Amino acid sequence: MKNIRRIAAVLAFILCLAALVSCGGSTPTVEEIKKRGTITMATNASFPPFEFTDGVDETGATKYVGIDIEIFKEIAKDLGVNYEVMDMEFAGIIGAVQTGKADLGIAGMSVTDERKKSVDFTVEYFTSQNVIVVPVSNTEINTAADVEGKIIAVQTGTTSDMFASSEDFCPGATVQRYGSFIDAASAVKTGKADLMVVDIMTAAEILAQNDDLRQLEEPLADEAYAIAVQKGNTTLLEAVNSTLNRLISEGKIGQYVEQYTTASEG
Ligand code: GLN
Repeated sequence: MKNIRRIAAVLAFILCLAALVSCGGSTPTVEEIKKRGTITMATNASFPPFEFTDGVDETGATKYVGIDIEIFKEIAKDLGVNYEVMDMEFAGIIGAVQTGKADLGIAGMSVTDERKKSVDFTVEYFTSQNVIVVPVSNTEINTAADVEGKIIAVQTGTTSDMFASSEDFCPGATVQRYGSFIDAASAVKTGKADLMVVDIMTAAEILAQNDDLRQLEEPLADEAYAIAVQKGNTTLLEAVNSTLNRLISEGKIGQYVEQYTTASEG
């Protein structure tokens, strides 16, 4: 009797483990995506010019536009499938890719060693820098060294958040985290924060809309954007790399950048 109970307990344990592994997520291989007929992209659509919304289409669905959306459409086209944008908090994108809830993370996402522990990255398709934005009325903050002890607004989970939260770069700073850089900019405009740290292209879009904000000339460290794929999903990684390499060699990324950058309009 004791033995049977022990065996039952061991069996139950094994079943639980199996359930945990299978509920932990699936691997969206190219074959699976083609069978499904749709590829999904996790993003945060408040990051112009890479991804933002532009009203609704004739069916009432939100229209997602931007550089990353164009890239995503090309990936879908090369695979011969439909595409679906999954708009979420930036901080949730890596988890969505890890668990297979989304096939790709395309979000102007900078490659970092920390993120490489959780996802695989494709080839890099854009070089960026983070910059500091302050109110025009602020004459006190003029270099990165002036941020010491200041209130810094960032978007949660971004490289700006990592920078602002680092005692080495921003000693004694208070970090205010927002769901988007647009909200972080509002905090700077209304004086809730002294400055924000944000990617240079998005800073340009925010400045184009807000003449009471200015950007410090000196950029912070260089970063590069790539697409996040579930770890070990090599078929998908290779497929996305081949589309990206094609777009890069055809000069398409540069065209998308021009198309969606306010500064280049007109
Ligand atoms: N490039 C930044 C990062 O990867 C910000 C990206 C974003 O907010 N969409 O953290």
